[in-house]
Amino acid sequence: MSQSSFSSTKLSDALLTNLASLGYKQMTAIQEQSLPTVLEGIDLIGQAKTGSGKTAVFALGLLSRLEVSNFSVQALVICPTRELADQVAHEVRRLARAIANVKVTSICGGVAFAPQLSSLESGAHIVVGTPGRLQDHINKQTINLSQVNTLVLDEADRMLDMGFQDAVEAITAELPKQRQTLLFSATFPESIQSITQRLMQAPVMVKIDEQLGNLDIDQTFHKIENTGRLKAVHLLLMEHEPESSIIFCNTKQEVQELSQSLRELGFGVLSLHGDLEQRERDLVLIRFSNKSTSILVATDVASRGLDIEAVDLVINYQIARDSEVHVHRVGRTGRAGMAGKAASLYTDSDAFKLKILGEQIGRYIENEPLPAKTVLNKTVSRPAMITLQINAGKKQKLRPGDILGALTGEAGLQGSDVGKIKITPMSSYVAVKRSVIKQALTKLQNGKIKGRSFKIRSL
Ligand code: ADP
Ligand code: MG
Repeated sequence: MSQSSFSSTKLSDALLTNLASLGYKQMTAIQEQSLPTVLEGIDLIGQAKTGSGKTAVFALGLLSRLEVSNFSVQALVICPTRELADQVAHEVRRLARAIANVKVTSICGGVAFAPQLSSLESGAHIVVGTPGRLQDHINKQTINLSQVNTLVLDEADRMLDMGFQDAVEAITAELPKQRQTLLFSATFPESIQSITQRLMQAPVMVKIDEQLGNLDIDQTFHKIENTGRLKAVHLLLMEHEPESSIIFCNTKQEVQELSQSLRELGFGVLSLHGDLEQRERDLVLIRFSNKSTSILVATDVASRGLDIEAVDLVINYQIARDSEVHVHRVGRTGRAGMAGKAASLYTDSDAFKLKILGEQIGRYIENEPLPAKTVLNKTVSRPAMITLQINAGKKQKLRPGDILGALTGEAGLQGSDVGKIKITPMSSYVAVKRSVIKQALTKLQNGKIKGRSFKIRSL
């Protein structure tokens, strides 16, 4: 745990006050070790696991240098996917609240071009985008990047995994050579080293080693026959009854097969893999993060970097292909002081991988028994929440407060019965407690939101 506060850095009083209002008291390890360098304008490569606060490092850096009176794009942040770009844009806006009139624009695929154009035309200071759509704007000459003084490559490893290397280099060619370049990544494969040599100038490298052994995670390994995987998962889910759990598979096909088998056993399951369309992915993440589905079956590529709260249980359906990936999977549980549980299934043929893992964890890996069959006598527990979908969103100017108001008004639900609310351009999603679902549906269907009636359905 880091001990320094943000006030030990050169950040302006306005930014410091805002950080305090956001509840950021101490810097995280990566912030403590890289923010001073970033504020000096030096190129930096930051490597630390998901959830360690990397966004604030570059956001505070670029905000410190921003000139609001200058309406050109001064900072460009490139992210691999739209949802990561949305998360980053959201965090940058929060951190920017201290400075009046900062304009942050997202330039991502999967959404209409025209509104992006008009928000670029009206003067964006900070652009957060995905490689493909940024390239489209460059090709159409609808974005001017000639005044960018800070370039950020976020989740660089994933960007390369997804095949965006050429796009990133093409975009970078549009920027001034005199600039600060910041690159963040959870892992640091060779392909990144070569890109840093071309795009960065004498970068400082900051790596925060996550000693898995130090995390508060109860990690067990269970030896099985190849045919026993599903049964093992079944036993683990029945034993632990997690409120949220991620099951990692090595392939998309495994994800699909396991999801189907678990559904047949009566579990509510969502699947996440690289072939889903953006809209489907968005919906999966909404329903998992709002606790209306307890089990997410996923591949690594699809789930890396996502800002999902810590889960109670991680199951490795297969041992990951390399130990770094294993560490990231397991790190999904037990975050921020919460105890977590990770169970990994292995067979004889994983002996070599286990040896390496054991060295990393600092103990010899031994087989531990699976839960006893008697756990199967219980009934499958259902998630605490249910998602309601409302057929109106940002376009209809719906805000979270409108939905909360409609649900909790006169003779309505308690605020504590309502979970996460997510507004997308055309739909909104609200999680409500299962115990009050009828009441919530009636209230929304008969009543009105902002004086209008909308279609509501439960997912
Ligand atoms: P990363 O990019 O490393 O995966 P994020 O930047 O998304 O991590 O941060 C994860 C979460 O931690 C975010 O919700 C962010 O608001 C929060 N956070 C970041 N820094 C701090 C801090 N110093 N104190 C408290 N919360 C923080
Ligand atoms: Mg991040």
